[in-house]
Amino acid sequence: MSESIKTKLVNLGRDPDSWQGMVNLPLSRCSTILYPSMESYEKRARGEEIGLRYARMGNPLSNAFEKAMAELENGFGAWSFASGLMAITGTIMAFAKAGDHVLICGNAYAPVLDFAENQLGRFGIEVEFFDPHVGADIAGIIRDNTALIHMESPGSATFDVMDVPAIASVAKNKNVLTMIDNTWSTPLLFNPIEHGVDIVIHSGTKYIVGHADVTLGVAICRTEELYTRMKSYVWDSGLSSSPDDLYMALRGLRTMEIRLKQTAENTLKVAQFLETRPEIARVFYPALESHPDHDLWKRDYRGANSILSILLQPHYTRDQVYRCVNTWEHFPVGSSWGGYESLCQPQYLKTARKLPVWEEEGQLLRLQIGLEDADDLIVDLTRGLETLK
Ligand SMILES: *Cc1c(COP(=O)(O)O)cnc(C)c1O
Repeated sequence: MSESIKTKLVNLGRDPDSWQGMVNLPLSRCSTILYPSMESYEKRARGEEIGLRYARMGNPLSNAFEKAMAELENGFGAWSFASGLMAITGTIMAFAKAGDHVLICGNAYAPVLDFAENQLGRFGIEVEFFDPHVGADIAGIIRDNTALIHMESPGSATFDVMDVPAIASVAKNKNVLTMIDNTWSTPLLFNPIEHGVDIVIHSGTKYIVGHADVTLGVAICRTEELYTRMKSYVWDSGLSSSPDDLYMALRGLRTMEIRLKQTAENTLKVAQFLETRPEIARVFYPALESHPDHDLWKRDYRGANSILSILLQPHYTRDQVYRCVNTWEHFPVGSSWGGYESLCQPQYLKTARKLPVWEEEGQLLRLQIGLEDADDLIVDLTRGLETLK
């Protein structure tokens, strides 16, 4: 248990002794599981015998991945899903019911805001968005019927950092469940359960898989009680993930530390360069002292990752902005991040965010910095920015 996370990432979920010495857990596709007898079938259904039942309810790869993630985040157990978004919406649906009030940070991943706004009302669940900088003042908006608080820190697009320990502590005192989207950090940079959070979510699509070829999600529960409550919803709803994708996630864990470290090093270099460019009004990256939440980030996080955002000066026309972005060779336009390759994704926060209200003029662009040579990326970025002259 006291081993370094680097060592754990290499070893968790592997079991060569059970698999004729194979280094990796083999990719086992399955649906039906055969039982040795009628007695065994009934015992497994009652939980009196250990063994697989049906692929959707657990298979060798989901068991290995979920156990590995639970250990990395210091939780009791985990559930895996076909996407990160499904892990978030599945967790909300598992714990909220008609008549409840739920608090969602206003800078969450935009599809989560859409889910909260468009879907939860149909189930009689009232949604309230809160400012990520609320801190311990969250006490003022918690109601008697508040069932859960969803956090995301650093949040999407501008990486606003939340005071997670303060919010978790207030929530605990008021008996409100807390969940957090910890995708930005991976288990390497921040472990929310150590700060009192109940459920930790990762989009495995990003750093865990790391190669832009799988979507996957996971929710890690702090206690057995939470894990069991969640099981009821997950199994009743058929939420699950594919063995092929889980195989890729386990494989991704092996190199995640070195990928995250190298891309973060590249990103800091690129961020510092971008800060010197006159075409750019603001650079958002928590490891820069200019980031509004830099001090809070430094207090709680062990490092930063591979995404930053830039706000271009507001006087550029649409055509100028498009020409600049289209000039970049190493920053094709595409959603997602956390892979080995660089990307650019335009951000439209006036519509895609609730709070804090976005009032800045100018095009906001999120850059994912990959494993390319940072100097090559800087040359490429310069070429695009020069077209703005
Ligand atoms: C991408 C992303 C998700 C959703 O993950 P998918 O696997 O694409 O569904 C959730 N949260 C954050 C912060 C993300 O960036």
